[in-house]
Amino acid sequence: MNAITSPDPDLLARETLRLLGPAPDNWVPEHAGITHDVLVVGGGQSGTAYAFALRRAGIARTTVIDNASGPAASAWRLRARMQKLRTPKNLVGPELGLPALSFQAWYEAREGAKAYAALDRIPRLAWADYVDWLRDFLGVAVRWGTHLLRIDHVTDGAVPHFRVTLQHGGEQRVETVRKIVLATGVSGGGAPFVPPVLQAAVDAGLAAHTASTIDFAALRGKTVAVVGAAASAFDAAGVALEAGAHAVHLFARRDHIAASPVARTRAYPGLYDHYHSLPDALRWSQALRYRRAGSTPPSDALDRVLRHPHFHLHLSAPWRSARVEGARVVADAGSASSLPFDFVIAGTGYSSEPLQRPELAALAPHIRRWRDQYTPPPDARDDELAASPFLGAGLELQEKTPGAAPWLRHIHVHNPGGFASVGVPLGDVPSMRRDIPAAVARIGHDLLHADLALHQARIDADVAPDFGAERYAAALWQGGGPSPAASGHVPQAPEAPQTPRQSALAP
Ligand SMILES: Cc1cc2nc3c(=O)[nH]c(=O)nc-3n(C[C@H](O)[C@H](O)[C@H](O)COP(=O)(O)OP(=O)(O)OC[C@H]3O[C@@H](n4cnc5c(N)ncnc54)[C@H](O)[C@@H]3O)c2cc1C
Repeated sequence: MNAITSPDPDLLARETLRLLGPAPDNWVPEHAGITHDVLVVGGGQSGTAYAFALRRAGIARTTVIDNASGPAASAWRLRARMQKLRTPKNLVGPELGLPALSFQAWYEAREGAKAYAALDRIPRLAWADYVDWLRDFLGVAVRWGTHLLRIDHVTDGAVPHFRVTLQHGGEQRVETVRKIVLATGVSGGGAPFVPPVLQAAVDAGLAAHTASTIDFAALRGKTVAVVGAAASAFDAAGVALEAGAHAVHLFARRDHIAASPVARTRAYPGLYDHYHSLPDALRWSQALRYRRAGSTPPSDALDRVLRHPHFHLHLSAPWRSARVEGARVVADAGSASSLPFDFVIAGTGYSSEPLQRPELAALAPHIRRWRDQYTPPPDARDDELAASPFLGAGLELQEKTPGAAPWLRHIHVHNPGGFASVGVPLGDVPSMRRDIPAAVARIGHDLLHADLALHQARIDADVAPDFGAERYAAALWQGGGPSPAASGHVPQAPEAPQTPRQSALAP
């Protein structure tokens, strides 16, 4: 690492905020009985970026909650196990286009430009530190340890809003909010997917999903199975091997490891910027292409396990059955039978079924899913994709039956449940540049229109004159004086008369 380059690493970031100027005053009218205009659920990189973007949009009565106990319990620190981020280091992230607040600026201010140039990808824990710094630096206050349990829409208010049931420290309380952003992370669209064949092992404490915190030290000397062959599965296998597992066996359903990152073909601006406007059939086929090709582990995640002689790969080996025998799980997988393991890790991904999210379960029957919107040809069916919500351009939920639940559009989904709609896993770095501004713009639009009468009264209000007629009274031509030609004065083109509207808009 290079030496620290500046005695004040935040200088550039602070100067940028100074030049940007203060955030606009809150413009959203207050309504009696409404606690917050926006509730952001999730205080990670997405929630932080939303809170900042909303503040810069003049939407100030925002509250951010997170059921994690604090930043030390973030996904990046506890559940992500790769050494480096999988995404390229130079994407726009939660800094939302302010370069001095970017990871690069943060890292260079601490480690030097050469050290940044030397990175091929971002070290995971450096990213976690950066996200925590950004949250603190921007003054985003997160109510840690606060869990959103339930959302109920309110029909009889002056404006559409929700009653949300929150839990903090064992106590429940109800607050009211007009808009909700679900920046709830990888399992926020549904739940970690545990194949039924593994359930008995999970129940016996002999298996866990990669989304869980796993005591890898306890796997020392043990024989471990990893089910699944995407990035998280390889990361978990790598950590288990490094923790001293006796052997790690990784099981893939395919006859090869997915190696073609097919989403790369659509990473150019025209497609990225306008993805949501593509026809449903095209978005479906793209989502399906991605799912069928499989999510690829980065090549260094592969190297991490391949350097261990006691790493074993099983291809074309879906788990057919598994039984708990004493303290072991005995599996039949692919063509092999009765393989014994001390512990099993399921790197089997996440569902996008809102019914599995406690906070969405009551609303789920009203949510428009892809299956309600688009019927693919028989060879392009995918029930998992079909269950995911069909989001609008502002990431808003939509109603399944027109007119039945219009209030759903006040819930904005920024988690991977929106993948089929927007073409990237929402919450990942690549989603931020486009989708956070889009959702914030829609939130502003809806808040404005819900209060249109108030805004009309506000913009029609009397405006005190900047000056009185006495200022120019002395210059009024009284007649009878020398003509302009006689005095040698050359008349100028008359100034366009200022309308009251132009005056009102002048700064
Ligand atoms: C192993 C792994 C590797 C990844 N690698 C990359 C990568 O290389 N590049 C990339 O771009 N992305 C990657 N991602 C995806 C994504 O960037 C991360 O998951 C990132 O943490 C998402 O940030 P977020 O703020 O959207 O969600 P999170 O950081 O997960 O924060 C969401 C928060 O919401 C809270 N929450 C959820 N439900 C509720 C509720 N009902 N009430 C209150 N709080 C709630 C959660 O506790 C959580 O703290 C990876 C994800 C994982 C799991």
